[in-house]
This record gives sequence, structure tokens and C-alpha cells, in this order.
Amino acid sequence: MRIGIGYDQHAFVEGRRLVLGGVLVPHPRGLRGHSDADVLTHAVIDALLGAAALGTIGEHFPDTDPRFAGVSSLALLDETMRLVGDAGYRVVNVDSVITAQEPRLQPHLGNMARTLAQRLGVASSNVGVKATSPEALGALGRREGIAAHAVALLEAI
Ligand code: MG
Repeated sequence: MRIGIGYDQHAFVEGRRLVLGGVLVPHPRGLRGHSDADVLTHAVIDALLGAAALGTIGEHFPDTDPRFAGVSSLALLDETMRLVGDAGYRVVNVDSVITAQEPRLQPHLGNMARTLAQRLGVASSNVGVKATSPEALGALGRREGIAAHAVALLEAI
């Protein structure tokens, strides 16, 4: 068994879609980033890579590489799963928390868990996606962006 942790945050920006856990969330602003800036999927990817000691999302998918410009982070997650599998591991479960002052994410959490579970090769009952409010504290509380934490448990195949 191997455990990993991932953390990411992205700033809000005008004129982009908001994608979290591979799910399009209706909102006037999206997140700034080289890919689709899916902060939750990025945290999950880093948790998976960390559990297998395979480095970081920035090493595997550098934001200087034009191949990853505007790409769906689910495609990056698929490639991460290939790396994890090649290293001899499969996913047991993943848990995660999104920290966002806005928008209200509760109606979308189940869809995010199902979307991620499909890519992770596990039942959706093995993927936790939660949302918490920063209670108006700090940059996240000032609605400047969204952050996400994730943990992943892997087992040897
Ligand atoms: Mg990121």
C-alpha cells in the first residue's frame, strides 16, 4: 500500500470555463492555467504521482509544453494512470476537498466523483469529492481563486 498527497490552486480569470473534476460548472469566471486549469484533477494527479513516487504533475506535463495548452486535465489523468499502472500499482481509493468561496459546488460533487472514478478505474464509492468554504478568509475567501487537496491510496498489482 502506498499513500500520496496532492495540492493545487488556481486564480480566477474572466473568459474561461470553470472545470472541476472533469465537470463543467456554470460560473461567470473560470481558472487561469496552461491546461483547462482543473484544480481538483491536478491535485488528484499529484496525489497519484506522489503515492507511486513518480515525481510531480509539473515534471510530467510542463506548462511550457504547447501539447498541453488548453488540454482537458482528464487526458493528463489518463496518462498518469498509465504511469501508475506501469509502475505496478492500482488505485484503492481517492479522497479530496475543494476550497472555494464561490460557486456553490454541492450539486456537482457526485458528478465529479463519478467522472474521476471512471478514469481511476474504481467504483465511484471509492472516490470522495467534498467542498468547503474558506469562510471569507484570505485570498480564497476574497474569491481570487480555488484550491484543492487530494489523497490517494494505491496497492501493488
Ligand atoms: Mg494546476
